[in-house]
Amino acid sequence: MFKSGTVVKVLLPNVVNSGYDYRLIADADLGTFVRVTVMNRPYIGVVFGIGDSGLPADKIKNVQRVFPWKISVADLQWIQKMSDWTLMTPGAVLRLILNVPDAFCEPRTEQLYSYNFDANKSKMTENRQMVFDAFEMNDNEPMSITDIQNIAHVGASVVRTMVARGMLNPVASRNIVRTFKYEYSDIGTVELNKEQRAAADAIARDITNGGFSVNLLDGITGSGKTQVYFDSAWRAYSTGKSVLLMMPEIALTAQFIKRFESRFGAPPVVWHSNLTAARRRDIWRGVMCGDIRMVVGTRSALFLPWQNLGLIVVDEEHDSSYKQEDMGNYHGRDMAILRAKLSDFPVVLASATPSEETMRNVEIGRFGHLILKSRYGGAELPKIETIDMRENKPAEYCVNSETGDMKPGYLSPMLCDAIGEVLNKHQQAMLFINRRGFAPIVQCKKCGWVATCPDCSIGMTYHKKIGKLLCHICGRTVSLPDKCPDCGNDVSMRGAGLEKIEEEVHVKFPHARTALVSSDTMVSRGALERMVMRMESGELDIIIGTQILAKGHHFPNLTLVGVVDADMGLFGTDFRAPEHTFQQLFQVAGRAGRGAMPGRVMLQTYQPTHPVLVAICNGNRDEFLHADMDARKSAKMPPFGQLVAVIVECKNESKLKKFCDELAQSVPNASGVRIMGPIVAQMYQVRGFYRMRFLVCGDARSALQPIVKLWMSRVNVPANIRVKLDVGPQNFM
Ligand code: ADP
Ligand code: ZN
Ligand code: ZN
Repeated sequence: MFKSGTVVKVLLPNVVNSGYDYRLIADADLGTFVRVTVMNRPYIGVVFGIGDSGLPADKIKNVQRVFPWKISVADLQWIQKMSDWTLMTPGAVLRLILNVPDAFCEPRTEQLYSYNFDANKSKMTENRQMVFDAFEMNDNEPMSITDIQNIAHVGASVVRTMVARGMLNPVASRNIVRTFKYEYSDIGTVELNKEQRAAADAIARDITNGGFSVNLLDGITGSGKTQVYFDSAWRAYSTGKSVLLMMPEIALTAQFIKRFESRFGAPPVVWHSNLTAARRRDIWRGVMCGDIRMVVGTRSALFLPWQNLGLIVVDEEHDSSYKQEDMGNYHGRDMAILRAKLSDFPVVLASATPSEETMRNVEIGRFGHLILKSRYGGAELPKIETIDMRENKPAEYCVNSETGDMKPGYLSPMLCDAIGEVLNKHQQAMLFINRRGFAPIVQCKKCGWVATCPDCSIGMTYHKKIGKLLCHICGRTVSLPDKCPDCGNDVSMRGAGLEKIEEEVHVKFPHARTALVSSDTMVSRGALERMVMRMESGELDIIIGTQILAKGHHFPNLTLVGVVDADMGLFGTDFRAPEHTFQQLFQVAGRAGRGAMPGRVMLQTYQPTHPVLVAICNGNRDEFLHADMDARKSAKMPPFGQLVAVIVECKNESKLKKFCDELAQSVPNASGVRIMGPIVAQMYQVRGFYRMRFLVCGDARSALQPIVKLWMSRVNVPANIRVKLDVGPQNFM
């Protein structure tokens, strides 16, 4: 406890410096939130230690306000350790915790709007539908215009028109703080089978004994992992602890929320990026005061001001969305484990396809391993087979019966036969192709010109739905040229995205009812939920989608999964390509045959003997993992080695090169550490910035961070250059 009048160090969100000194005007603890001013602007910070600036007393400003809220000393240590690990400053880590601007403000009076559900539905447009979904994601609470724009991603004019048409009604504008206080009970408990019981008991022992532990809950899709960790959540919650259930954004489905509610008797407090400012504030405060002790949320829920946290579950722990890449580079799973270690409580990682990092930790005995081998209730695993495309050439299809214009197809006769059978039996099929849009390459038939984005070094994809070329990096759209801009000849569309597959399906199965599922069509959670409902009620026969299909959903009548191009991920330059391909195909395969009927999975490939595909067909995950981990071991790649990527960006190419030369000359000498580069990044240009990369490699035990820090301290980064440090990079573009 620091007495009023003490000079303390206050950590501020996102300052380069590790804190400034202020004088307390009331008693405070380490971790207490305070308001201070920097250059006359107010900031919220936390008391981080005793003041050590040595400034004369009259130069030290008073704290403006001491809040009755604080975070624990262990969490302050977490901020410091996370900073040491990720090379973010402690202030940048604190910014993740304070990323709720309204948490410390008195509620403002502002104009709010409610959604008028009686309004004429015939006036629905895509934008208005997104506004509707934004309300739905926030329990139809009134929202400010800023909220509507931020959550629905629509412009102010859309909102104005909806107000004018009576689709949005202005409502009383007092913005009060709501308390979310749900009473949970264990009403929906199920009888666990033997395997599930054994896993749940092992976690229960760790919870009861207290202390830090990590368990991998390793079970195939449908084996009941959710049931097991619900049991663990209840165990921790019912003894007064707080519980965080983390999941990837797209796994946070209505189906999941319903399951939670029927188990615990009340809906979960849900945390993700599409909440209103008021709701974010209310949840933040609820967690701060200990009113909210259980949250289901995405990666950023880890940064809520948790009190007495007693369990974190990381569902789909292998999912790459746990890695944050813009505002700091941290891995949500790893930072959850770090938080648990410092505060001494258990973590459960759940997955059907654990990451190799996690498997390595299991192998060396650092994590416990709880295995669920069979699907609950004896549902059969689908039969997985490859289709050798060298022998099963897709038939062409006719796009225009008048001209007889034919296009090359992508669906082999074997897959088409299987689709036909499924349709006859009134079952459902899913076609998976991890490529958005219609055609990924738009090229001149004569001179070879290819449409590329002027700001990014990649080709632009033709999207039929919007009738334009779209850059998948920066989102720029341009109209489709009817002639080659270089030589004036015709252009052709090459390769297939999901819109083209849908076209082929419509020609080959004219009666099939289809839906496209990608980030272009599933612009909000509501849109995804509507697709799920149409699928469940049998309004759809075939869904065609990208990886967002691979997660979470459970369609009892889905009996066929066709992977249009199983080779797509096999030959990337990223050393994780085989792992990610395996995980993705394995997860997709897990969608089939979840009900009473057995499922079938067909992988179209030109490489039927590729070890990844063979392992998937044999259902032999561990064999694949071991083979891939051996390869990583000999290449000294993670988890057997460590990496830090240094990405240097600048709009001016020659300044970039010059600075990278300087960096290369300043590389410190450290045994066991290699610094490679600079090389031109795979995406050399992104949003107009040129990019170069260095890669720092070391063995599993070497501490790369101090070396990178030393290296960076030797150079002065010019103002027009950005240097990004990425510890444990997942993305090598
Ligand atoms: P996973 O999370 O491993 O994919 P789920 O927990 O979703 O598996 O379980 C798959 C299905 O089996 C769900 O519909 C679930 O309700 C059911 N189920 C699993 N275990 C049990 C159990 N012990 N009693 C009743 N139903 C169960
Ligand atoms: Zn041309
Ligand atoms: Zn671009």
